[in-house]
Amino acid sequence: MKIIKTKKGVQKEIARLRRQGRSIGFVPTMGYFHEGHLSLMRQSVRENDVTVVSLFVNPTQFGPKEDLARYPRDLGRDSRMAREVGVDILFVPSIEEMYPEFEGTRDKGQGTGKACAFGRVPCPMSRVTVKVGPIGDVLCGASRPGHFDGVATVVVKLLNIVTPDVMYLGEKDAQQVVVLKKVVKDMDLPVRIRTCPIFREPDGLAMSSRNVYLSPTEREEAVVLSRALREAASRIRSGERDGQRIISEIKKLILEGAHASIDYVSVVDAVGLSPVRRISGNVLIALAARFGKTRLIDNITVKVHGQ
Ligand code: AMP
Repeated sequence: MKIIKTKKGVQKEIARLRRQGRSIGFVPTMGYFHEGHLSLMRQSVRENDVTVVSLFVNPTQFGPKEDLARYPRDLGRDSRMAREVGVDILFVPSIEEMYPEFEGTRDKGQGTGKACAFGRVPCPMSRVTVKVGPIGDVLCGASRPGHFDGVATVVVKLLNIVTPDVMYLGEKDAQQVVVLKKVVKDMDLPVRIRTCPIFREPDGLAMSSRNVYLSPTEREEAVVLSRALREAASRIRSGERDGQRIISEIKKLILEGAHASIDYVSVVDAVGLSPVRRISGNVLIALAARFGKTRLIDNITVKVHGQ
């Protein structure tokens, strides 16, 4: 496995592989790998000649008060894990490599430490960004304004650098999948998107790099999220069709089972993310809750046939 730190380095390597007619799968990540990340990499390794993984904790998708500075990082461990599953190229750019226009503006007016370069703080330099529109303002976007613009911008940049045939995304970040599918479609980007199911701990908690923040009690209580979602899905399968009742039931289960504060619980149409009153078709039940300082997300998709 090659670890490459520059865009030029990746582009040179990709050009060489393309001359050999190789197909390329791509997995964008922020690192601190767990089995969820590895499942995406394995899928790509199975389906492509070459797998490229990017590891970049993208500052522009973090808000000023979010966890950019303390986001877990361990390149040594991550590169061992990626190598073991058969990744060919690990692209690990620096902030300056991805956003050269920010060079010298690190910490401008922030004083928040080295790792917190600029977040979504306005920068004196102008730069071109992707705006995803209203689809980025609902669910997670409502409490993380600008987050999906940051995600879309960095993913478009990465796609232009890596030029993969297929990009692999996890259903854990359901809204991210919807947003990036729309970006690819609306911008006519020549890449296919493959999604992979949520990888869970044995007790049901969705794997996340952020789970390491949880205290032992919070970790135990966090299982309530997946339990509440499963319970809701089973109610729908047994005939419940009232979206609001499902939301109330989930909120009740979470608050009974954990010292958590709920960011949102929503029942939405799985394609356009618009709220669903009367459940029919393909619905996404998505939620975010805070356990102490840690914000966790989870979701489940339920297919309802007929009315
Ligand atoms: P991240 O490093 O958190 O940005 O995640 C990188 C990719 O891994 C995204 O496409 C995520 O949706 C995916 N991912 C993260 N956690 C999981 C999980 N538990 N199961 C499946 N995919 C995941």
